[in-house]
Amino acid sequence: MLEKFDRYPLMFGPTPIERLSRLSANLGGNVELFAKREDCNSGLAFGGNKIRKLEYIIPDAIASGADTLVSIGGVQSNHTRQVAAVAAKIGMKCRLVQESWVPFPDAVYDRVGNILMSRVMGAEVELVDQGFDIGIRESWENALEDVKAKGGKPYPIPAGASVHKLGGLGYVGFAEEVRAQEAELGFKFDYVVVCTVTGSTHAGMLVGFAKDGRADKVVGIDASGTLEQTRAQVMDIARKTADLVGLGRDIGDDDLTLIADYAYPAYGVPSDETNAAIRLCARMEGMMTDPVYEGKSMQGLIDLVRKGYFPAGSKVLYAHLGGVPAINGYSYLYRNG
Ligand SMILES: *Cc1c(COP(=O)(O)O)cnc(C)c1O
Repeated sequence: MLEKFDRYPLMFGPTPIERLSRLSANLGGNVELFAKREDCNSGLAFGGNKIRKLEYIIPDAIASGADTLVSIGGVQSNHTRQVAAVAAKIGMKCRLVQESWVPFPDAVYDRVGNILMSRVMGAEVELVDQGFDIGIRESWENALEDVKAKGGKPYPIPAGASVHKLGGLGYVGFAEEVRAQEAELGFKFDYVVVCTVTGSTHAGMLVGFAKDGRADKVVGIDASGTLEQTRAQVMDIARKTADLVGLGRDIGDDDLTLIADYAYPAYGVPSDETNAAIRLCARMEGMMTDPVYEGKSMQGLIDLVRKGYFPAGSKVLYAHLGGVPAINGYSYLYRNG
């Protein structure tokens, strides 16, 4: 579905699919769990899902003649760290707006993890005191103007690389990659579980899996805590991406499975159940997840297995989208493990 689009390779190649045998057994053994390791997809500052999206955005950035990638996220944004890494790799400057999206009081929250790496990679980092919002922000528009005023040529990459005409393509590619891996494995996954916030990861998968009738088997676990805005954004990106790739059919509301039950108490703040899920996965599989995104989708996966949401015998693919560096901002919470 993606042949006609330019791709700038930033990943190692197809990401591995790993069996989660001990976690599956711990949860009763009726469902077989697997992880697709998007968290290990690249050597660019620990990688993650934004790297896969950026493969289809960077050719446009280069063609535009820009010299500075400009983007936005929370203080511990994984996305901005990945943009900083890609900018370094392709020889562009990077300007980042980091907003106070997460009400988390760790003393070193704005010093460690993602933001530390962005600074080391040479990005110009600006901290802005604004709350969580996945939409287009004034602070970001200001940063774009500022780059221009100083004689630079900015290339805008919105939060999560989502509301960008090419933002959904990377995860259409993910679905095609899974189909190829299924052919090798000799079986198909019944469900894919994914964390959903700014929406283009889920939207891309939805379009990619719509091709063989599995759009609604992509189970999105909302971690935004602003469900209606996220739902609308996923649907909008999915419809536009379907048009762009020529899917050949409309995307309807029935194609979207998005579960709101695990985003509490707020975006970026883990619940006791999130922390229990992070620990269980870490102790069963040695697979780390973070308190903002993947810990919540892991919590959702574990709870849905326990509740019998997946019929016995199902094969469930957990898309591990990265994000572990942010856990450094939560040092006090995990001081005893
Ligand atoms: C950005 C991100 C997500 C959410 O992906 P969206 O495309 O923004 O919905 C999930 N997990 C991690 C680790 C992320 O960095």
